[in-house]
Amino acid sequence: MRLPVCVMAVIILIAGCIAASQAQQATAYPPPDERYKVDILEIVGHPDDDIEVAAYVAKLIEQQHKKVAVVYTTRGNSGGNAAGPEQANALADIREMEARHSLASYGITNAWFIHGSDSPGADVLRSLELWGHGQALEEVVRLVRITRPEVILTWMPNYVVGENHEDHQGAGVLATEAFDLAANPLAFPEQIEAPRDRFTISNYGEGLRPWQPKKIYYFSDAIHFDFFKGNGPEYATGDLSPQRKQPYSRVAAEAWGQYKTQNDFTDAQLKEFTEMPVRFIFGKSLVGGNATSDIFEGISSTPIGYSRARGYEPPAAGLTFELGGPWRFYRQFWQAHNIEHLGKLFSPEAQVAPGETLWVPLIIRNDTDSPKQVTLHAVLPTGWSEKPETANYNVSAHDSYPIQLKVSSSAAHKDSWQTLTWTAESGGQNAGSVTLRVDVVSNGLPQ
Ligand SMILES: [Zn+2]
Repeated sequence: MRLPVCVMAVIILIAGCIAASQAQQATAYPPPDERYKVDILEIVGHPDDDIEVAAYVAKLIEQQHKKVAVVYTTRGNSGGNAAGPEQANALADIREMEARHSLASYGITNAWFIHGSDSPGADVLRSLELWGHGQALEEVVRLVRITRPEVILTWMPNYVVGENHEDHQGAGVLATEAFDLAANPLAFPEQIEAPRDRFTISNYGEGLRPWQPKKIYYFSDAIHFDFFKGNGPEYATGDLSPQRKQPYSRVAAEAWGQYKTQNDFTDAQLKEFTEMPVRFIFGKSLVGGNATSDIFEGISSTPIGYSRARGYEPPAAGLTFELGGPWRFYRQFWQAHNIEHLGKLFSPEAQVAPGETLWVPLIIRNDTDSPKQVTLHAVLPTGWSEKPETANYNVSAHDSYPIQLKVSSSAAHKDSWQTLTWTAESGGQNAGSVTLRVDVVSNGLPQ
C-alpha cells in the first residue's frame, strides 16, 4: 500500500520530534575568561605613558567601576634613569615593576608587556621594523581578544612636532590595526581555533573568540596639543576622589611618583602637567555619537559584529608627488583605517635643531603605462640648502622614485617656524607640490 505524501510527512515529523526529545543537552561551551574583560584597553609604548590618561581613568575606576588594562609595546629599556645607574635590560625590569606599582595605585591590576625594544627616534617605521611588525601585531590582537575592550585608548598615529616618539606612534599604529583585525577570523586564525580537548595537553588552538572593539581614541605628545581642542572629548582632572579626599590630578601625580626612573620633574612641573585636562582626539566609533561625545556614549554591554575598514586603495592613474617616509605611510594608513580626519588636524610638520640637518623624504609615483621625466624645484628659506640638490628624475611606468634629501637649516632661524616647498613638473605640466612646515628648535629626538 502506498501512503499519501501528507501522511508520510506527518509520520516523519512525529519521528523527528521523538528523536529530538531524546537528544541530550550539550554541556555549555565555556565563555571567555571573564576575569580579563575590560571596558578600556590602553595600548602605549612605554611604562609611564599611561600617566597621560591616569586622572581620567582613575575616576572611571573609582566612580563607575570600569575595568581597565594596559598593553605596553616595550619595557622602556632605552630610557634614561633618574633613580639609579641601571640601564638596558636592568632598567626594563625596573620599569616593568614601576608600571605595575603605579597602575595598582589607582586600581589597574592587569598589564602586559609585549616583546618590543624601546627605540628612541621619531620615525614610526623604524619602531615597527625593530619590533617585527607582524609579531607585535599578533601579540596585540591576542590581547584585544583576551581583554575584549569596549574602547581602546592609544597614542595618535601621526608625525608631530613635540616628543614625536616613534614608539608612541608605533603603539598607535598597532592599536588601530588591532581594532580592525581582532574580529576578523582570518587574522591570526590559530588564536581563535577551538582546542580539540581543553583538558589535555599540547592543544594547538588558543581558544579565543574574535572581538570587535567599539571606539578608539588617541592622545598626543605634540607640543601644540592645545591645537587639537574640540577634536575629541576632554576631561577635567580637578574632581575630588571620594575615597582619597583629593583631586584626581593628585592621584595621577602620585601614580607618576612610582616611576622614579623617569621622574626628573620638579613638583611644580608635575603639578602643572597633571592639572591639565585629559584631552582625547576622536579616532572612530562603531556605535554612533560624534567626535566630542563622552567616551562611553552609545556603548552597551552587547557585543557588536565585525566592521570592515576600507583597506588599502591604490591611487588613480597619473603622476603623484608627495612627502615620503612616515608621512606617506600615514596618509595611506589613515585612509585604510577610516581615520582620514587625522590628516586634517594640521599640515605636515617637522622639527630641526638650529643649524642642524633635517631629513626630508620625497617620492614621485608614476601610475601610468609610460615612463615619465619629472623635474623638481625647491623653494627654501634664506640660508637653507639641500643635498643632493633636486634635479630631473626618470620614473619608470608603474614605479616610484624615492628621493632622500638632507636639508641644512639656518641657525639664524632659531625658535621660528619656516616653510619648505618643492614643486614637480613633467612635460611642461605641474605634477604637484609638497609643503613642509618646520619648527627650528632644539631637543627633538633623532629623526
Ligand atoms: Zn613614552
